[in-house]
Amino acid sequence: MFADRLNRARSVMADHGVDVMVLSVGADLPYFCGYEAMPLERLTLLVVPSDGDASLVVPFLEAPRVVERPDVFEVVSWKDGEDAIALAAGLIGSAGTVAVGDQTWAGFLVDLVAELPGARFSRASEVTAPIRSVKDAAEVEALRAAGSAVDRIAAQIQAGEIPLVGRTEAEVSAQIGRRIVEEGHHKVNFAIVASGPNAASPHHDAGDRVIRSGEAVLFDFGGTMADADGVGYCSDITRCVHVGEPTPGFAELYEVLFASHAAGVAAATVGTPCEAVDAAARGVIDDAGYGEFFIHRTGHGIGVEAHEHPNIVVGNDLPLVPGHAFSIEPGIYVPGEWGARLEDIVVAAADGPDAMNVADHGLAVVDG
Ligand code: ZN
Ligand code: ZN
Ligand code: ZN
Repeated sequence: MFADRLNRARSVMADHGVDVMVLSVGADLPYFCGYEAMPLERLTLLVVPSDGDASLVVPFLEAPRVVERPDVFEVVSWKDGEDAIALAAGLIGSAGTVAVGDQTWAGFLVDLVAELPGARFSRASEVTAPIRSVKDAAEVEALRAAGSAVDRIAAQIQAGEIPLVGRTEAEVSAQIGRRIVEEGHHKVNFAIVASGPNAASPHHDAGDRVIRSGEAVLFDFGGTMADADGVGYCSDITRCVHVGEPTPGFAELYEVLFASHAAGVAAATVGTPCEAVDAAARGVIDDAGYGEFFIHRTGHGIGVEAHEHPNIVVGNDLPLVPGHAFSIEPGIYVPGEWGARLEDIVVAAADGPDAMNVADHGLAVVDG
């Protein structure tokens, strides 16, 4: 599988005139070679020539963690005190264009630029994103398994099985984090719990605000679930509940959000440009007069990273193809008052949008 992925990368490199691709920390490395670098100040770098064998430069003390895959890469280790940048530059050679993993530490790139004065540098995402963003059947099933796991937690919240009133957002967030792991993820990525006016901040940090009766609470949570190869796929879901009956105003706002989300999912068909999916969801909110309160794109791609390509955003005219996986997550945020968001992960498929999340989309009313 990794050898196949690297060969696909080599053909995209050839199309883009990239001579060598180098990948360091971040999700590209495990996706293409099955090894995840520790985010250390010591250099780890997969060097992939367009027409040659790949080498994995690793610190000597990290080498025992590497699962050797001789059909994919050769391990080249270096010891403290040795010049790892010179070692990497030697493997890159006299390449004209070097594509560098987008999350590579700037310090390493600055040193490589100095070591390779004749090279032109580009972003490796132009090579990796077109490959990573299109999921095969096994990847879709991995996303579905992760989605089902967070659906079960969402259903518990909606059924009132996770107590809210009188607890702080942070306490509830910690409980959701534990549930994410209990449901089979190996890592918690985030567990946003935003109550009352705090929900007007889309990425609110769960804090010491005590949840009260008579207010809405927004939950946005997800983790990474490893598949058989040890490469993890992410979940990401948002649901809102109301503690006690909502006011007519909030119920009306939620109806608009519900319709916007449904329109976004329905529009996510093969061949539809990403920006048209965004426009479909946004149009419902605009028409209802809440347009100024929908302050972010409709969605982001998801896979081995919680946020990857393709983005469902104005300006992205990329047409959806089968296997594109992304969130549909419109939100309405009124500063100082309240906010709401509704999010599913959806995969574009030949026979229509395939939702990875099926937890109820309505505004659940809980007792507390
Ligand atoms: Zn977000
Ligand atoms: Zn989310
Ligand atoms: Zn999301």
